[in-house]
Amino acid sequence: MAFRIFPRLLIGSFILLMVTIPVGFYAVWQMERFSDTLRHILAVESELVAAEKRLTDALLAQMRYERKYVLLKDRELHRQFLAANDEFGRVLEQAVPIADTPQKGRAIKRMEGLGREYRQYVEEESVWLADNRPYAVEEYRKKKDEATDGIATELKKMKILVEGETAASILELENRTSGAWRMTLVIAVAALTAGGIFSYIAARWITTPLSLLIDKTERIARGDLRADLSISSPPEVERLAASVNLMCEKLREVDQMKSDFFSAMSHELRTPLASIREGISLLSDGAGGQVTEKQRRLLAIISEESDRLISLVNTLLDLAKMEAGMMPLHCAKADMLPLVQRVIKEMEPLAVGKGVTLGFESESSLALVNMDNERVLQVIRNLLGNAVKFTAAGSEVMITTEMSEGELVVSVKDAGPGLLEDERSVIFEKFRQGISANSVAIKGTGLGLAIVKQVVSAHGGKVWVESRPGEGSTFSFSLPA
Ligand code: ADP
Repeated sequence: MAFRIFPRLLIGSFILLMVTIPVGFYAVWQMERFSDTLRHILAVESELVAAEKRLTDALLAQMRYERKYVLLKDRELHRQFLAANDEFGRVLEQAVPIADTPQKGRAIKRMEGLGREYRQYVEEESVWLADNRPYAVEEYRKKKDEATDGIATELKKMKILVEGETAASILELENRTSGAWRMTLVIAVAALTAGGIFSYIAARWITTPLSLLIDKTERIARGDLRADLSISSPPEVERLAASVNLMCEKLREVDQMKSDFFSAMSHELRTPLASIREGISLLSDGAGGQVTEKQRRLLAIISEESDRLISLVNTLLDLAKMEAGMMPLHCAKADMLPLVQRVIKEMEPLAVGKGVTLGFESESSLALVNMDNERVLQVIRNLLGNAVKFTAAGSEVMITTEMSEGELVVSVKDAGPGLLEDERSVIFEKFRQGISANSVAIKGTGLGLAIVKQVVSAHGGKVWVESRPGEGSTFSFSLPA
């Protein structure tokens, strides 16, 4: 089943959420348990501590009233002793439900017994005191002390017991908490790993078809127009792939139309132009009757202009074909030197006619380069032609060939007007001319450097110009050796 991108992302996020929520809940639940236990410990402990304090107070009050009573025989003190003893019993009774271990229960029982014993001795003694007769004071003192000491000991024991139990509970709680945290950590790591893996898979679902698409568009840019992209999911990308295939088919059709157009154009334009030139030549030769001097001059102008037209049409068609990548290169390993020398030889008459000297320098060991000789000849002709065209009489045009960083570099240095920075950046585009072009008598088309750039790029090389206004220009191109 092919899921769309949106549900894929949604499912991925949902699963991630589903695994993280339980971890959160588990952690919160553990926290709750922890605080519950802590609250319980604190409640029991504080109640027992309070009870212990009240018992101690009550015991001390009993002892105080009892001693004073024995000494002063005041009935009121006897009554206060009894009240303190009652209070002691009440507190013990209240402590019974919070005594959460049998040990504490036993301690309370013992204290109850001792409290009753203490009261009984005092009651017996009060009878003797009321009669005002001598009795075994010391013996009673001993018995009473035994009872109160017993109570004090029990109280101390209970205090130690409560403290010990609290410490033990906190320790146990700590152990339980760290166990719970370990568990939470394990669950969290497991959940996040599972979530992460699923998210990765979900992302791959989307990115894999996209990279296929990117790969195909890059191949289209390199000229591979086969409609061979096959992606079946997600549906959005599947549709995109179908559109790309359709686009490839259309591009192939357009390509075919373009090549048909070029061959038709070259035929339709060149043929009538060649006929015009032929006609002019026949007329000049007198095929149409006697030609006057004036007519001959006009015919010469027409012939020159039609030559220019033919050359312009040829250049335009060449450039268009190159731009469309429809001009195949016939490359072979060849030596650059003979090509440069040939162009110099061709240009020599033009240069001499203008009073321009042509100089040539070459590094002794030039590597062979893989090139289409005819096309590279065209490049050198255009560069040298421009250099001669823009250089004034009495100056020199220098051509150099050298190896640089594994590439063969050909440079043409002239003593022309030079170029502004703005011009340098545009002159390699077609129909673009610099300002200096206006001041030169020979007209141009602005196509020469565009062709140079196309040819050099098709060879995998580079072309550039170094120039400053008033200091001449150096046009160079490099080809990989
Ligand atoms: P064209 O020379 O036919 O006009 P190009 O494409 O050969 O076309 O040149 C484009 C422009 O570059 C020219 O019009 C001129 O302004 C400038 N240019 C080319 N070569 C030189 C040079 N050697 N010195 C100065 N300017 C030049």
